[in-house]
Amino acid sequence: MDFHQAPPRLTNTFHSDPLLEKTLKKRLPPDVWTKMSAHLKHVGELAVTDWLTWSQQAERELPVHVPFDPWGERVDQIRMSAGWTQLEAAAATEGIVATAYERNEGEWSRVYQAALLYLYHPSSAFVSCPLAMTDGAARAIELYGDDELKKNAFKHLTSRDPKTFWTSGQWMTEKIGGSDVSGTETVARKSSAQNGFDWQLNGVKWFTSATTSQMAMLLARPEGAEMGSRGLSLFYTELRDPNQNLRNIEILRLKDKLGTKALPTAELRLTGTPARLVGEMGGGVKKISSLFNVTRVYNSICSLGQWRRALDLAWAYADVRVAFGKKLKDLPLHRITLKNLETDFEKAFELTFFVAHLLGKDECGTATEKERTLLRAVTPIAKLWTGKKCVEACSEVVESFGGAGYIEDVGVAKMLRDAQVLSIWEGTTNVLSLDFLRALEKEQAAPVLAEYLQTEGARYLATPKGQAEWQEVQSLLAQGQKNGRDYLESQARRLSFLVAELIAGARLVS
Ligand SMILES: Cc1cc2nc3c(=O)[nH]c(=O)nc-3n(C[C@H](O)[C@H](O)[C@H](O)COP(=O)(O)OP(=O)(O)OC[C@H]3O[C@@H](n4cnc5c(N)ncnc54)[C@H](O)[C@@H]3O)c2cc1C
Repeated sequence: MDFHQAPPRLTNTFHSDPLLEKTLKKRLPPDVWTKMSAHLKHVGELAVTDWLTWSQQAERELPVHVPFDPWGERVDQIRMSAGWTQLEAAAATEGIVATAYERNEGEWSRVYQAALLYLYHPSSAFVSCPLAMTDGAARAIELYGDDELKKNAFKHLTSRDPKTFWTSGQWMTEKIGGSDVSGTETVARKSSAQNGFDWQLNGVKWFTSATTSQMAMLLARPEGAEMGSRGLSLFYTELRDPNQNLRNIEILRLKDKLGTKALPTAELRLTGTPARLVGEMGGGVKKISSLFNVTRVYNSICSLGQWRRALDLAWAYADVRVAFGKKLKDLPLHRITLKNLETDFEKAFELTFFVAHLLGKDECGTATEKERTLLRAVTPIAKLWTGKKCVEACSEVVESFGGAGYIEDVGVAKMLRDAQVLSIWEGTTNVLSLDFLRALEKEQAAPVLAEYLQTEGARYLATPKGQAEWQEVQSLLAQGQKNGRDYLESQARRLSFLVAELIAGARLVS
């Protein structure tokens, strides 16, 4: 008789994840945990039932760009699957963005949200990407928006009602640069006001995920403003008019990508797109950084969620696949291979939820000056470290399925392709390492990190691993002082990885 391999099965991802419960229960006030855990159980069930089905549909029925109608009229529609639409609606219903702004759990609201997103992301077909930008846009409006934006767009972005919920794009990257936006070519021209949209934008945005969103935040250079990044301002646009026609925007094409295929990422041409300034003229990069600081935290959480799902599948497969007379999970070398991925995962979990808590404290006004500095320094390293480690873990998980891992419809190969983006968008590993260096140099983060490690992290620093990492950090910084900026820059990645390990290690044993 033919042999048929039993497939790996997922169960409620809240119940199958003891670390989530153990860690959050330890750190959260009991009343917050009680409320949150009931919700997380519900969400953990959706993640392996409805959401999983919808995400599989979204991955099968990929976005299609329809440039013209049958009669040659330019329409630039993007057709999305029903699964994608349902996942967007579910995000609103579960309050994935709203939780952070209602702030019912005070400084723990971002932790609550992080846990929801962590469970949502791996069954979301990357709807998590527009959600990240939506949340970032809400934060930018909260900080810099005028009354009109606060009354209108902000309410939509933070709505729990799928009928009124909006998502937002974040359009920074142009052909000339994504890491370096100083050469931004999109020009903003003052125009006669149309409902407050008193600017017109012209240019090409080279990577725009969430092209189906209702609004976007973007960088452009007002006519006559200086060259370089200092001349950029932050603008707000609504993509469609009441008839759902794009407002002077052409969709040039959808990107043909390595992964994240269910997510519509497009190239856009702005042809006099009506827009409003966000805040005063200028300071665009500073303003949009409030947005991408949120999206970077999302990236860390999504990396974590993706990594957890990959591991769940690897363990589930190790429980059903037999080799050399034993289940894979009972083969010592296979077991230790997966266990090692769990060790790194636990550290990443601690680091990510630490950043989420700091962000929540900052937004609620309960963060001390030192905690705000920590948030500034740890956000880029958490993003870069979790993104990179998630790719490594997904690669190992593909291998843990043997040949089956390489076969598309088994599903783990896709996870590896998807994971690769986590170390690219929202700042590549190098770009974020340099951002971390800036935090050390310009915001005096080094003494704050040192104090944190020597107090909260004292137990970890006393371990041989912690000691070696700490000594290497000190030695790199000393050599940087001696050998100059270029040397320090060349070591920024190593430095970032070491500090990420140190903070994560410190959190793990605290
Ligand atoms: C699927 C997908 C969706 C995206 N969606 C969006 C979106 O919605 N909105 C948006 O604005 N952008 C989006 N992006 C763009 C993304 O944010 C950029 O591609 C990314 O920030 C890198 O910019 P770049 O492509 O210009 O690379 P480059 O800046 O050209 O980088 C090339 C290489 O050089 C390295 N590098 C650059 N500068 C330095 C330095 N100073 N020192 C050392 N190394 C350096 C980088 O690390 C990288 O390895 C998306 C990208 C992808 C892949």
